[in-house]
Amino acid sequence: MHSPSKANVIAALEAGGTKFNCALLDTDLNLIAQAAFETTTPAHTLAAVRDFFYQSVATNNAELIAMGIASFGPVDLIPGSPTYGFITNTPKPDWSNTDICGYFARELSVPITFETDVNGAAWGEKVAGAARDLSDFIYVTVGTGIGAGIVVNNQLVRGIRHPEVGHMLMPRDQILDDYAGCCPFHLGCLEGLASGKSIESRWGVSGKFLRANHPAWLVEAQYLALMCANLTQLLAPQKIILGGGVMEQPQLMQMIRDYFLVYMNGYGPAAVLEQTADYIVKTGLNGMAGILGIAELALAQLAQERF
Ligand code: ZN
Repeated sequence: MHSPSKANVIAALEAGGTKFNCALLDTDLNLIAQAAFETTTPAHTLAAVRDFFYQSVATNNAELIAMGIASFGPVDLIPGSPTYGFITNTPKPDWSNTDICGYFARELSVPITFETDVNGAAWGEKVAGAARDLSDFIYVTVGTGIGAGIVVNNQLVRGIRHPEVGHMLMPRDQILDDYAGCCPFHLGCLEGLASGKSIESRWGVSGKFLRANHPAWLVEAQYLALMCANLTQLLAPQKIILGGGVMEQPQLMQMIRDYFLVYMNGYGPAAVLEQTADYIVKTGLNGMAGILGIAELALAQLAQERF
C-alpha cells in the first residue's frame, strides 16, 4: 500500500553506450533528482544506478511507483520473449545478453517500462518537444551510431523488432564516394556512411575537429538528406526531428534541408517542400527527451495496468 504522506515518484533511466542518465521525477514529470554514471561493466553501472534511486527516493521521502528504461541496443522489446528486457547481441564489450529490466525489477520492486533509447527520446519530443500535438513523426539521433524512433498514428512503431533506420542501405556513387562505410554488417548503410564513428573512420579525425566548411559536412548532409527523403516517401511523417552529437554542427541543418529539396525534386506536399525549416528540425530538449519520454511511458503503462 502507498503511504499517503509520501509523494509518488517515477525512476527514469536513459541507458547509453557512454553513460547512464538517471532521473527521479514526480507524476507531473517535474525533475526531483538527477545523476549520470559512466557505462563500464553491467555489475558496476547497474549497481550505481540502483544506489542512486535508493538514495534519492529515501532523501525525498518519496514512494517509487514505476521505472522507465530507454536503452541502447539492440534490445528485446517483444513481450513474452525469453529475452524480453535484455540488451541482446551488442558489440559493446560485457553488455551482450544483459537482463537490464530483470535487474531493476528485482532490485527496485516496481513495474518496468522498457524501450529503445531512441523510442524514449522520440516520445519525449511528443511530451514536451518539437512533436507536441503530432500523431506521426520521426526522431533520429545522429551520434556515434544512427537510430530512430518512429511514431505512426500516436504509437511507437514496433514490428518483429524495433526499426533500425541506421542500417537502411543508401544509394552511393562509388566514384564520388569510394568509402564503403564502417558498419561491420553492411556495405553502404546509413550508419556506416554518416554516423559520428564513420566521420572519424573516413577522415581520420573526430567531426568535432573538422572546420565548418570541410568537405566532410557535404558528404554528411547528402546522406542525411537522402535519409530524410526516404523516410518522407515511406512514412509521410508530419515532422522529422534530428538530434545527437553530430547535429551539434550548426552549419549542417540548412545543408540537409537544401539537399533534401534537391532529392525530393518537387514531389511532395507543400508543408514539406515550402516549409522545410518547420519540417526538418533540431531537437530543442537539450538531452532531456529520453528521460521525459520514458518517464511518461512508464506512467502511462502504470495507468493502463491499474485500469
Ligand atoms: Zn549497417
